[in-house]
Amino acid sequence: MNEYDSELVAGILENQNYIRTDAADEAELILLNTCSVREHAEEKVHARLSNLKFLKKKNPKVIIGVLGCMAQNLKEDLLRTKPYVDVILGPDSYRRLPELLSQRNESNDNYIDTKLSRMEVYDDLFPARREGINAWISIMRGCNKFCSFCIVPFTRGRERSRPIESIIDEIKQVRDAGFIEVTLLGQNVNSFHHEGRRFHELLLEVAKIDGIERIRYTSPHPQDFDDDLLRVHTENAKVCNHIHFPLQAGSDRVLKNMNRTYTKQHFLALAQKMREQIPGLALSTDMIVGFPGETEADFQETLDVMKQVKFDTAFTFKYSSRPGTKAAEFTDTVAEEAKQDRLQRMIVLQKEHTLERNRLHIGEVLEVLVEKDSKKSEKQHQGRTRSNKIVIFDKVGEKPGDLVNVKIIDAQGITLFGQIID
Ligand code: SF4
Repeated sequence: MNEYDSELVAGILENQNYIRTDAADEAELILLNTCSVREHAEEKVHARLSNLKFLKKKNPKVIIGVLGCMAQNLKEDLLRTKPYVDVILGPDSYRRLPELLSQRNESNDNYIDTKLSRMEVYDDLFPARREGINAWISIMRGCNKFCSFCIVPFTRGRERSRPIESIIDEIKQVRDAGFIEVTLLGQNVNSFHHEGRRFHELLLEVAKIDGIERIRYTSPHPQDFDDDLLRVHTENAKVCNHIHFPLQAGSDRVLKNMNRTYTKQHFLALAQKMREQIPGLALSTDMIVGFPGETEADFQETLDVMKQVKFDTAFTFKYSSRPGTKAAEFTDTVAEEAKQDRLQRMIVLQKEHTLERNRLHIGEVLEVLVEKDSKKSEKQHQGRTRSNKIVIFDKVGEKPGDLVNVKIIDAQGITLFGQIID
């Protein structure tokens, strides 16, 4: 979502005749689009801002802005510790950027706008996209779920969905610009609803667009994953056979304290149904270890769920307290050592599952969308299967954006290796 928002802001600025540079010391304006979801993400921004302080000393005219969730979360506190920051804008205030920049050019005041909106979906603004393979498309913003560990409902406000027509218009535009894959984005993407039409209906509309070959979405919430959505996956080949399905924890006690609103059994039953009904499905997930009150027995239950589902990949994190959330008030915190130990054990287990799942593809021929040169050799390309697996293969004349058939000959870690066949 932040990548999309950065493209959106770039689009607003390009409309004002700003020109992009990748060199910070050439820039007259530097904006950091920030994330508050974990402490580590905020620490990175603080470190980056400290570096920019030196740049500002050298060139006092450079305007430094902080955008996004951290701006929303910290507001004036950010100015108190970093007075050289000129502009602070929350996720619903990007439209005001040109106006604030012109005011900033006239006076040296700092500007803060962190008003959250119940309406803003930026549906008439088109992002300036750079990458030419996958286009991110925001379809809804905000979240009403209030998981107890999560700051997002406070930084991005209440859920609101974009009109289907404007989403379709944007996708036709990116199709005309050469993109053949789109990823529909929302904090809670499958609770999309607009004027009585729901998420699976939107997917069906997107699938009708000629030239769009692959449709992805992230992130769905298990509570809102219904049979209609499952049917769209089974009946429409354009909707990719990869589902990011965040479990977070496998113990009902922890899930309840997290306010995740589903049980282990509900999650397991859904995952099984998905695996049975969607051919070649890859399931990825998000996991948190060391949530307050999590015992070793709870953690073992989580590992047990992972063993049953065998996720293809997992994003695993140690719990970090976010001030302002419900969980930040919980006092039964887990010691850092125990968190680290559990995280390591979880990573080891997931690596086994990833390799096991990937080795199942050896010998298969998979359709791969060519993305770019592989990191290791310019004689090889890197692409992605419909199930979102990375494949490396020797070049034989194809180019980024092409769909090719690749026979898988090996699997190592998260990567498949293969060769193009006719
Ligand atoms: S569903 Fe939960 S974790 Fe996801 S954005 Fe909403 S509150 Fe945060």
